[in-house]
Amino acid sequence: MRVTVAGAGMAGLVASARLRELGHEPCVLEKGTRAGGSLLLSSCVVWRHLEWESFRAECPGGDERLQRLIWERLGDDLGWLESLGAEPVWRDTENPLTTGRRYDPRALTRLLAAAAGDVELETPLQDDAETPLLLATGGFPGRLARERGLFLRANPWSEGDGLDFALARGAATTSGTGEFYGRVMPAPPAEVREQDFVPLAQLYGRDARVFTDDWREITPPQVAWHENDLAQLVGPRAWYVVGETNERIEAARAAGGTVVQRDEGLAVHVAAAVTHTIGGLQVDTQARVIGAEGLWAAGVDVGGVANGGYASGLAQALVLGLAAAESIAAG
Ligand SMILES: Cc1cc2nc3c(=O)[nH]c(=O)nc-3n(C[C@H](O)[C@H](O)[C@H](O)COP(=O)(O)OP(=O)(O)OC[C@H]3O[C@@H](n4cnc5c(N)ncnc54)[C@H](O)[C@@H]3O)c2cc1C
Repeated sequence: MRVTVAGAGMAGLVASARLRELGHEPCVLEKGTRAGGSLLLSSCVVWRHLEWESFRAECPGGDERLQRLIWERLGDDLGWLESLGAEPVWRDTENPLTTGRRYDPRALTRLLAAAAGDVELETPLQDDAETPLLLATGGFPGRLARERGLFLRANPWSEGDGLDFALARGAATTSGTGEFYGRVMPAPPAEVREQDFVPLAQLYGRDARVFTDDWREITPPQVAWHENDLAQLVGPRAWYVVGETNERIEAARAAGGTVVQRDEGLAVHVAAAVTHTIGGLQVDTQARVIGAEGLWAAGVDVGGVANGGYASGLAQALVLGLAAAESIAAG
């Protein structure tokens, strides 16, 4: 059976590879100039919360059925990745709260792109696309970042095309369409290139006092281990203030960021950046889009996984990509 897959990120590539394994003929359409989507730019830790109760507690607004699917399937699905030849660079996440694997993002992209078969670059999904169709276009981080005046820390092509396509066909969406997973980065004039997305993340916010751009203190009483909550708080511009410098601050300074000594301490001018959206299309546990016949969705085109908190976008892409492929293949 011919199947169209829109998007050559983690979700689209794994789905296509699995469809081929199951004897089908997927064609992957990719809007951008390269395969890999945000996977290619990522730290590539594919993880889940160690304890089911922590997943629920940390992402309380998410759909319990999707969360359980990811939590229960991830171990086997990492085994599937390794059966394709993926070699972990770490066999754990180095975080006692989570479990998973870390891969080399370029090597994993190359492996998955080869396994996915036909990937047509610079070929966006068209309105007249035939079904079955899997939407794996990476949510709408570009659009959300623009609307909020934030930076984009993701592949540059994910603008909500999958969401719009499905909405025009009656799809249902989840809550949390204003939520995002993001990081705090050095503010301009710092130059933040794609290859700087990981090393320039200002990940010491738990030890910092936080001030608005006009110097009103907004330090929260508690900060989550992943600091995603600080990305929401910081918004377009803020200041982190610490007692002494660290490697991340020196990297910000070297990139041209503003680091100044003030009475309050060493101040770093920072800005929030959107990595991926949290709300999106509503799907069932076979990744079928609710309300739109013949459409499946995977990866961060799907909403309702990490609402209210933070979970692995790559695990969401891997598990839902495989679930979608298996559901399409089952007919
Ligand atoms: C710097 C960074 C670090 C990260 N680190 C981690 C990490 O360690 N662990 C983790 O779990 N997650 C991490 N993430 C998040 C993770 O990479 C993403 O959540 C995940 O890759 C999303 O996969 P996806 O396939 O759903 O979407 P994407 O990777 O966004 O892929 C979507 C693809 O669809 C294409 N597309 C868009 N519109 C169209 C269209 N109209 N037609 C055809 N194609 C289209 C895009 O060009 C893109 O290639 C990180 C992300 C970044 C940027």
